[in-house]
Amino acid sequence: MPDYSAPLADMRFVLENIVDLPALAALPGFEHAEPDMVYGVLEESGRLFTQEFAPLNRVGDTQHSRRHDDGSVTTPEGFARAYRRYTEAGWAGVSFPADYGGGGFPWLVTIAMQEMMTAANMAFSLCPLLTQGAIDMLLHYGSEAQREVYLPRMVTGEWTGTMNLTEPQAGSDVGALTTKAVPADDGTWRITGQKIFITYGEHDLADNIVHLVLARVPDAPPGTKGISCFIVPKVLVHDDGSLGERNSLECVSIEQKMGINASPTCVMVYDGAVGYLIGEPNQGMRYMFKMMNTARLSVGVSGLALGERAYQQAVAYALERRQGRAPGAPAGESSPIMDHPDVRRMLLTMRAHVEALRCLAYLNAESLDLAARHPDEAVRTWRQELADLLTPITKAWGTDLGNELTSLAVQVHGGMGYIEETGVAQHYRDIRIAAIYEGTNGIQAMDLVARKLPMRSGGVINDYLAGITDTAAELAKEGGDLAAIGAHLADAQASLKSTTDWLLANGLPDASDTLAGATPYLRMCGIVTGGWLLARSAQAAQRLLDDGEGDADFLRQKLVTARFYAEQFLPQAAGLVPAVTAGSADLQAAAF
Ligand SMILES: Cc1cc2nc3c(=O)[nH]c(=O)nc-3n(C[C@H](O)[C@H](O)[C@H](O)COP(=O)(O)OP(=O)(O)OC[C@H]3O[C@@H](n4cnc5c(N)ncnc54)[C@H](O)[C@@H]3O)c2cc1C
Repeated sequence: MPDYSAPLADMRFVLENIVDLPALAALPGFEHAEPDMVYGVLEESGRLFTQEFAPLNRVGDTQHSRRHDDGSVTTPEGFARAYRRYTEAGWAGVSFPADYGGGGFPWLVTIAMQEMMTAANMAFSLCPLLTQGAIDMLLHYGSEAQREVYLPRMVTGEWTGTMNLTEPQAGSDVGALTTKAVPADDGTWRITGQKIFITYGEHDLADNIVHLVLARVPDAPPGTKGISCFIVPKVLVHDDGSLGERNSLECVSIEQKMGINASPTCVMVYDGAVGYLIGEPNQGMRYMFKMMNTARLSVGVSGLALGERAYQQAVAYALERRQGRAPGAPAGESSPIMDHPDVRRMLLTMRAHVEALRCLAYLNAESLDLAARHPDEAVRTWRQELADLLTPITKAWGTDLGNELTSLAVQVHGGMGYIEETGVAQHYRDIRIAAIYEGTNGIQAMDLVARKLPMRSGGVINDYLAGITDTAAELAKEGGDLAAIGAHLADAQASLKSTTDWLLANGLPDASDTLAGATPYLRMCGIVTGGWLLARSAQAAQRLLDDGEGDADFLRQKLVTARFYAEQFLPQAAGLVPAVTAGSADLQAAAF
């Protein structure tokens, strides 16, 4: 199996041309994150991911994490060492505040690192990813005392974190959860209940696991309005941060899964476990909503990451495998399958979507950074709106594509793709979950249509669409390939605008029509956004070529990719218009 190599040149191109890393690094608080420093971090961390994490991907897939009778869990061989290397290098806390031992870098840098870590080893990457979510929660809503005790150890990676939402009867409908929290005399709480599917709920990578558990306090209102959030550490912690007794909680089993086998997916039982309330009672869901943008963005990035890794493997295989004679090849010789037009179509489809997803994920991350740090309030507001709008698209389009692109990589490998030894089948199995967890992709589509389109009475989506029109108009003036890309972009934007208007007009009083069109609408948003960002990438590449800057071969390939996407995928937006606007009559009429 060929190794994964970090796509640093592509990442840098996006950081400089689609988002503006130098401008971000000039903002108050980010001054030390100047671009050369960031590129150094990416190169150095990329080396660890490619050299240490990537070779463990297959080991993890075959060995799985294993639970023992005493409830402890052993991760696959080499994981503990790799985790140590990761934390010792300081990579766990790159974007968290320096006050707690972090690097104070923009979130954008973490997302770029996450792309490489997830590509190298998705099952491994989930432990740091969940820990980041728990840190984020404590940073925003933990008390000062809670932050002082937990954050320095979590930011360094000495302790890890989990998110405990799901129960057997409470999946997408988190409001149905029944885990109970009862106040104790000393101001702490006693947590009792069962959580399922808890990622890294138990493991041997760190000394302590800080579980964030959603539960109901006595007399809590029903549904999501009555959910509170608690810190429930695996090992109780003294005020000075030293470890005390084991808390009353246990991993009672781990799931056998389709993929990410190294990631222990635990059934957790809390039996009167000591818990500490975060913030106010009954506000847990509100706090979780605040955290969702970063977690969903990270899951979207997994589609990009595995798409990239599968693409690299598919290219390597297509160069090596010889079958048949490609058009124009000398008689009597078999050709590398790379020379067959249909194989090139599959490879370019993968490359175009991976590049579009990278632009989208980094734009989404930059928006979160600007929303948090930009000195101009108007910029902060717009970037928060943009992040809110883009997040369900990054999550759902990103992970749908993760599934499609890894499937294409299997196809490029032919029968060998279906054989585990090649390694490409693992990516296909691993990424399948990403469309399901962190809010299923159906829920993302509903979020986009029911919550995000109505923002500012449709003003946010319409401002966004106007920006796409501006790019198309700029391209039209350029002539040549860029104008052709611009024409496709303008057509696709018009289709998206027409469905957006329809959804905004038909949202009420009966939501079933708009919800019936939500998934194809999200797909349209993804297709058009991808085309817009690749068009901007082509524009930047042409500008650099005209100025005689950069690697000309690399830049010319950006133009090829953008043209291919504009010709082959942007026209699909128009084809989705009927699916978005069909309404729900057929769906309701169908008998099952
Ligand atoms: C490997 C793995 C790791 C996980 N890690 C964690 C974790 O660390 N912490 C945690 O708390 N949870 C975790 N989960 C749980 C995960 O978040 C849930 O599985 C997910 O939220 C979906 O819930 P569900 O499985 O109950 O599916 P359901 O909610 O039963 O959904 C089934 C189907 O119905 C659709 N559906 C449901 N409700 C609606 C609706 N209102 N409108 C339209 N369609 C709807 C869904 O889109 C889906 O297609 C994990 C799950 C797995 C498999």
